[in-house]
Amino acid sequence: MARHDEWMAAELAQLRAGDALRALETRPGVGGRLHDDTCEWLSFASNDYLDLARHPRVIDAAGAPLVRWGAGAGASRLVAGTLPIHETLEARLAALKGCPAALVGGSGYAVNLGLIPALAGRSDTVLLDRLAHASLVDGAVLSRANLCRFRHNDLEHLESLLAALPAAGRKLVVTESVFSMDGDLAPLPELAAVADRYGAMTLVDEAHATGIFGPGGAGRVVESGLADRITVSMGTLSKALGSFGGFAAGSVILRDWLVNRARPFIYSTALPPSAVGAALGALDLLRDEPERGAVLLQRAAFFRARLAEAGFPDSGSRSQIVPVLVGDNACALRLAARLRDAGVLVVAIRPPTVPAGTARLRFAVTLAHSEADLTYTVEALAAAARAEGLLK
Ligand SMILES: *Cc1c(COP(=O)(O)O)cnc(C)c1O
Repeated sequence: MARHDEWMAAELAQLRAGDALRALETRPGVGGRLHDDTCEWLSFASNDYLDLARHPRVIDAAGAPLVRWGAGAGASRLVAGTLPIHETLEARLAALKGCPAALVGGSGYAVNLGLIPALAGRSDTVLLDRLAHASLVDGAVLSRANLCRFRHNDLEHLESLLAALPAAGRKLVVTESVFSMDGDLAPLPELAAVADRYGAMTLVDEAHATGIFGPGGAGRVVESGLADRITVSMGTLSKALGSFGGFAAGSVILRDWLVNRARPFIYSTALPPSAVGAALGALDLLRDEPERGAVLLQRAAFFRARLAEAGFPDSGSRSQIVPVLVGDNACALRLAARLRDAGVLVVAIRPPTVPAGTARLRFAVTLAHSEADLTYTVEALAAAARAEGLLK
């Protein structure tokens, strides 16, 4: 019988021809430092920024709930899936975020997919930073709201869009506090002020800030003193917290609303006990070692300073995410291949993840990388860039 997949083969061939094909690659591990029986690599592909996913305390914290409650939660949170540790985790996240309440869900992606349609519908408008993550775009599309994209971090543009909207209908301004592909920061206080002037709600995605920025890793909303002015801040348990899952933090009313309206929360099975336990373990660790995020940011600043010395232009990054802009897809792939030969794994990020013509190597600095590792990496990168004619 025909499988009707010839059209996919043709599309895939086209992606390959444009150096835009994505393919899975099995590796011997997923952290910042990998090895098999014969080789060792530094990996800058992992978002396990604080190197917690394999921390013995986090592993222990995942094991106890696994043994006590089992491998799966069995049902949606509303059906039979809510365990005491789900509530404990939510109380801990709310406290971290300086908010009255929090709700955990399947993943950061699923949280964004549920959040935006819960806050905005057909007669409303979602205003989204042009570089916002795919999960925010997908949530906005799913909401069926009028979608406006504002130029990246451009508050004048945001304000002109808000000013042109009719008074009726809710408005939701959406941004990331640390941008996932550029590593730069959103001007949160100014953004909150603009949103306030137009009575707009605000959603800040802290996927790359939670655990790293702010006191004890609270994130940039807390760091900016905005915890009670942002409608909802969301984050993931899957990056700096080394586990899996996502969360939204805000008021008690917001949490009640999400329990009733966030469809990925309602129609999908609760987070497994082991993932909840691991996240709690990571939060315990952050409480006991609150300086981990600050150490990571110092390490990232060290990396950016070495890049500047080697002649790479300032990327605008102010975080642990450090892109090296290349432009051309094929050239980005060749650079990544040269680095791999030097024992350095880095992803060549290409469109549609980033705008056309802005292919880049995205370095995620983690606490698994020492300063010596970072110096070595810059030397290897500079050699590769010279070989490709990108650097003199
Ligand atoms: C990774 C990411 C998400 C999704 O989080 P997951 O837990 O991995 O699904 C959401 N927003 C941003 C900005 C991200 O980078």
